Amino acid sequence: MKSRKKKHEFQTEVKQLLDLMIHALYTNKDIFLRELISNSSDALDKLRLESLTKQDLLPEGEFKIFLKVDPLKRTLSIEDNGIGMSSQEIIDNIGTIARSGTKEFLGAVKKKGKDESIDLIGQFGVGFYSCFMVAEKVEVETRRAGEESGTHWESTGDGGYLVQDMEKDAAGTRVIVHLKPEDSEAELKDYTSEETVRSIVKKYSDFVAYPIQMEVERKEKETDSEGQVKENSPEKTVIRQETLNSMKAIWMQPKDKVTDEEYKEFYKHISHDWNDPLESITAKLEGTFEAQALLFIPSKAPFDLHFQESTNRGIQLYVNRVFIMDECRDLMPEYLRFVRGVVDSDSLSLNISREMLQQNKQIKAIRKFLVKKVLDTFCEMKDKKREQYLILWQEFGSLIKQGFLNWEEKKERLLDLLLYRSSHNVEKLTSLRDYLDRSKEDQEAIYYLTGPSQEAVENSPHLEAFEEKGYEVLYWTEPVDELVAPYLGEYQGKKFQSVGKGEINLSSTKEKEKSDDQRKEETRTYGNLMECLKDHLEEEVKEVRLSNRLTASAVCLVGETNDVSPVMEDLMRRSGQPFSKTKRILELNPKHPMLEKIQGIFAQEPKSRELKAYAQLLYGQAVLSEGSQLSDPAGFSKLVAEMMTKSL
Ligand code: ADP
Repeated sequence: MKSRKKKHEFQTEVKQLLDLMIHALYTNKDIFLRELISNSSDALDKLRLESLTKQDLLPEGEFKIFLKVDPLKRTLSIEDNGIGMSSQEIIDNIGTIARSGTKEFLGAVKKKGKDESIDLIGQFGVGFYSCFMVAEKVEVETRRAGEESGTHWESTGDGGYLVQDMEKDAAGTRVIVHLKPEDSEAELKDYTSEETVRSIVKKYSDFVAYPIQMEVERKEKETDSEGQVKENSPEKTVIRQETLNSMKAIWMQPKDKVTDEEYKEFYKHISHDWNDPLESITAKLEGTFEAQALLFIPSKAPFDLHFQESTNRGIQLYVNRVFIMDECRDLMPEYLRFVRGVVDSDSLSLNISREMLQQNKQIKAIRKFLVKKVLDTFCEMKDKKREQYLILWQEFGSLIKQGFLNWEEKKERLLDLLLYRSSHNVEKLTSLRDYLDRSKEDQEAIYYLTGPSQEAVENSPHLEAFEEKGYEVLYWTEPVDELVAPYLGEYQGKKFQSVGKGEINLSSTKEKEKSDDQRKEETRTYGNLMECLKDHLEEEVKEVRLSNRLTASAVCLVGETNDVSPVMEDLMRRSGQPFSKTKRILELNPKHPMLEKIQGIFAQEPKSRELKAYAQLLYGQAVLSEGSQLSDPAGFSKLVAEMMTKSL
């Protein structure tokens, strides 16, 4: 019933990925087998679940994965009697990648060096495509469970693939890998050798829950009718089907019975990540509800971590060692969605559905327990495995911070995890506890400054008075920092305060009296000038006032305590949310010689046109010095040129 072969082009992203895959010279080529076995195991899971309600989909024999080597043809095939694919499914699943941000991701990978690009591809999880590292051609024969006929797919990995209908006895998928010639540049192991295949399966796929079988040749003596070996009979070569994997549920084993290597490989199997995990967590919930968990923290964030719909393999749920579902989101809050692993509970029903999970008391109790375990592990890493914690923070810190938006437990636990750069040492991250340990006795709050980048905040005029007082300021340069600021509350009795918002007076009570007198005097001197500047800047600012923040710079812009900051405004603008621009306050440094000079012009000629130009210059300076964008950079530059010409 074979129809004509139809040629299809791979989606551009797939072509790029294949190109990287084939040319990246990934040293560990063995993993292609792990990837194909994982796909088969997933396909078996899917069919097993589907057949719970559709009995007629059950295969004749047991669920299994079958490997076959043919040294003469140089092929290795991986077959399963799982869910299979329809012809449209194979085109969609293997011809295209439907993950948001893939294009940008691949663009970024291309620019990297070879070693780095390998790391990045691994993190992407290229699965099926990895067989092109060892294959000159790949064939797939597949039949979707419930359908009558199958599909044949083949490709040499260079641009396109051929699809054709075919007869196939039973549902499931067979991937036939035509290995590259022995003398190819790829320096392949012999993947048609029984021993090679056996050792790869043992190493990477031992815990797969279905038998991985292979036909092996054995020399055996004859047996009698009772199965006893006849000692004197000659040895004959027989073909046997042998199961290569132990299928042990690794999460049920005590920690000391499992090697690090086994944990790592299990992680890679369930997560489809090629990198080792950063940390593994075993946990047992005892009492009314029981559950056993084996969780992993990845060492690299997937490229699409911040996309809401990112393919998230999350936590797999098992009931009494039987796989129930992938991506069980109800077991982890959003901000910990990067945690991977397996949860097995005897106390749940085998028929539990996704819809039932949300309301389920046991699931809620397990989730609470898991979150506590994960946060305990983070804390432990922070205190005892600093380097690892820094990796965790770099990869997932911005997501962890989102935990404040939806906090289920005590905030202190999450506050303890926070790390920021600060004015104390821009090279190193500091915790809030260390910040407070260094803080001055008279310091009333935990000070922070938000900004678009590290450079912008480091050089911001807002810091001046704080630097002079020796108060450390945290640098909050991620959009999420500002987003969660209102939810932080207090840390060890100290409030968080932005150095860029509200009125600041850092003087002690005694100093305050003195400075109040001085301020009255300065207000008398500059009061009218400030009114005049405000009139000229009516469109831009809501107030012009004298500053307590500035010691060296002439001007800065500040917001009121509850105002939206420029970083936030920018974020809202980019996300397409409507907003009206918040006018800010222009603060002037009364001790700066520039102010005195402008006052001189004002005293002589309050209506001088020059004052308008100076007002614009002051405002422009304030915008630039906090790292924000001028709305009319060309106009500003023209004004600077004009004023320079005049004074030169
Ligand atoms: P991933 O496994 O990470 O999703 P792959 O490129 O390995 O990526 O596979 C893409 C998709 O192709 C899978 O998600 C699955 O839907 C389908 N697929 C791959 N192998 C099989 C198989 N043996 N049986 C059924 N479907 C498969």
